[in-house]
Amino acid sequence: MPNDSTFAIQTQALSKHYGRNGEIKALQSLNLEIRQGELFGFLGPNGAGKSTTIRTLLGFLHPTSGSASVLGLDVVKDSVAIRRRVGYLPSGFAVYDYMSGREYLDHMRALSGRPSLLRHRIMEALELSDTILKRPVRDYSRGMRQKIGVVQAMETDPELLILDEPSEGLDPLMQRSLQELLLERVGLGRTVFFSSHLISEVERICSRVAIVRGGQLVALESVESLVRFRRRRIEALVARKPLRLTATAGISNLKFTSEGKTGVRISCDAEAAAIPNFIKRLQSAGLRDLLVEAASLEEAFMSYYGSSTRNTVQMAPEVATPLSRTRRAPAKRTTTTRKVTKRPAAKRPAAKRPAAKRPAAKRKGSR
Ligand code: ADP
Repeated sequence: MPNDSTFAIQTQALSKHYGRNGEIKALQSLNLEIRQGELFGFLGPNGAGKSTTIRTLLGFLHPTSGSASVLGLDVVKDSVAIRRRVGYLPSGFAVYDYMSGREYLDHMRALSGRPSLLRHRIMEALELSDTILKRPVRDYSRGMRQKIGVVQAMETDPELLILDEPSEGLDPLMQRSLQELLLERVGLGRTVFFSSHLISEVERICSRVAIVRGGQLVALESVESLVRFRRRRIEALVARKPLRLTATAGISNLKFTSEGKTGVRISCDAEAAAIPNFIKRLQSAGLRDLLVEAASLEEAFMSYYGSSTRNTVQMAPEVATPLSRTRRAPAKRTTTTRKVTKRPAAKRPAAKRPAAKRPAAKRKGSR
């Protein structure tokens, strides 16, 4: 049973299966150790098992097998004590619609039994005014609800924050403000564990990142090594097919489609570092239109791990090694330590449902 209090969070072979016969293996033998004072990102595409992990850590779900501790407390036996000490933002956060924002926050704070220390600081950072707090929550936009959720999770200045997709529904400016708030807390010695499907936000603020997919830990990374997942999708229209474009390093899945007199349409995936040169070559072929967009985490995974691994994903070598080692030895894709079965997300649609349509109580599953 893990109970090492030097770790804010520790899981050992933690598994959670759903379905009558446990056929949905949402989480499979997860081993994680998050130290006190870390800002730790839990990254994975939708359906990867992030919420299941988080809900198990809070004691809302019981593990099928394995064990976990939060602040040295067992997630099954001590869940009430854990919830008292942890600031938690659930995914697709929904609140009691009939209350005003202020009533809701006061209610949650009273339940926590802890004083509000940071409400005004967080409200200010997230541009939540007193006027907004007086309005009933049913009139709130999705972003406002999410902000209320963040205030609720953070206002008592808990030693550990566990946030499930905290930037969902926030506009880019507010996402930045939230990131600043999290950095500030960690600067003061708190621990933050948050899930995300956005490489960019994890990259910006975290020291370490666990990447999950299909319920399994694919890699445990120092944030520097995430750079290889930074991919872009490019669509371009050029007057004529550029010469030797296939030979360009960092460009993959290159496709050409002739569009008659309009020109040639080009689509490909590109590593961020290869883009400036690639665009120069497009320009020399008479560039007429260009679209560059960030690849989704799923696409980045596929392009890194390779589409030939249709049913398997190769696990990076630094999986489950301590930070000091991962920092010194970033992943090399040639080494394979284990095969991970790739499984489509089952039963639930991949996209998260909007908060407003979910009931206020716990939404995903039961014990
Ligand atoms: P994420 O948070 O990474 O999007 P989840 O933990 O929500 O992933 O889901 C992991 C897997 O478990 C998905 O395949 C999802 O469909 C499934 N799942 C989640 N909740 C339930 C549930 N209550 N019943 C059955 N399957 C579920």
